[in-house]
Amino acid sequence: PEHVVVIGAGLGGVRTAEQLRGAGYDGEISLVGAEPHAPYDRPPLSKQVLTGAWPAEKVVLRDEDALAELKVRTHFGVAAVGVHDGAVELADGTLLNADAVVIATGARARTLPGQPDGVHTLRTLDDSLALQAALKDARSLLVVGAGFIGAEVASGARDQGLDVTVLEALPVPCERALGPEVGTLCGRLLTEAGVDLRLGARLERFVDAHTVELAGGERLTADVVLVGVGAAPMLDWLGGTAAGRELDVSAGLACDERGRVVGAPGVWAVGDVAAWEDPARGARSRCEHWTNAVDQAAVVARDIAGAAPPPPSVPYVWSDQFGMKIQVIGRPELADNVAVLQGEGLAGGAVRGTVAGYFAGDRLVGVAGFGAARHVARYRALVARGAERPEVLAAA
Ligand code: FAD
Repeated sequence: PEHVVVIGAGLGGVRTAEQLRGAGYDGEISLVGAEPHAPYDRPPLSKQVLTGAWPAEKVVLRDEDALAELKVRTHFGVAAVGVHDGAVELADGTLLNADAVVIATGARARTLPGQPDGVHTLRTLDDSLALQAALKDARSLLVVGAGFIGAEVASGARDQGLDVTVLEALPVPCERALGPEVGTLCGRLLTEAGVDLRLGARLERFVDAHTVELAGGERLTADVVLVGVGAAPMLDWLGGTAAGRELDVSAGLACDERGRVVGAPGVWAVGDVAAWEDPARGARSRCEHWTNAVDQAAVVARDIAGAAPPPPSVPYVWSDQFGMKIQVIGRPELADNVAVLQGEGLAGGAVRGTVAGYFAGDRLVGVAGFGAARHVARYRALVARGAERPEVLAAA
């Protein structure tokens, strides 16, 4: 193609542009970003930026000069509003001709019904700076949702001495992603740090921006309330069509296993917005993690540039909470049983140093570690080739 238009100037969009150049593509690249900021990285927004350990400038992925060096033309502060046959339309009326389009518009923080203004969510740099400012003058925090982002914010707030309550609707935090055994460890990190963790808590309604009412009538009040209940793919702008063709946007933008948008030749999608065909599951799945966006950008860039695909990657997710790194390698959701590989946590002892192995039958499909980076690294190759249980246990 002569002109690739990348829509969405976050991690997936920037990496796609970089990887196109890396794969030898020397045609035109345009990068469209709805936010006015230079492209930035999100993980520090619930960690170092939130606590003030990092200034906001430190999260920039690539500024305009660095993009110009890559010969990437930028359109920042203006959203794309449609993908037409051979062109991308921007909100200011600009039409960018395009032979190839990559959609990398990410996701938006989900909100709850009746959520009032003044209740925080956390997705963007502006969200992070607003939450940081609110926490500075606060004595208490209420978090709705005990996922990674909620837990990271709870961790930072406990470090600053705030009283923290976390509401979680499920009986175990992170149960869907990590299973009940490992999810229980995530919950213990919260309670052992002095967080008031309410499991199975049903939020009935918001009374105002500082007070919620639970099913049963109990009211909880905090200086700051954060809703951390996941993210929804950013797709409304597309209107369900590209170049006049209907798209499947029911669970993210449906793509094949190379990121080609189903039913829309010349259009690809990467990152949090995209639901790629997953051969391991025989179904499409959408993944909201950093390494996934980077890996998908490499696949798509090479597909567009006509280069050989990169070697298959092993999924990797991390979270920094309560002074330790949680790491997940591989595909816990494919497992039907979990075994201790290292440490005492699964038997009720110290969480730190625990490594759990996820098995499908006797085949290792994933590993989760808590403050055990050195050990976790040893299992990566075993996960990659789906090693059998005796070999995995011998590596412990
Ligand atoms: P994004 O980074 O969201 O980028 C999408 C961009 O597209 C945005 O800038 C958006 O403004 C723009 N856009 C949207 N619509 C349009 C439009 N119509 N036109 C133009 N531009 C548009 N993952 C981990 O693995 N570990 C972590 O510790 C971790 N921490 C996180 C902490 C926070 C607070 C958040 C929010 C996420 C975290 N993640 C983490 C997830 C990770 O950051 C995401 O998976 C990653 O950012 C996905 O990249 P993306 O390019 O798909 O989306």
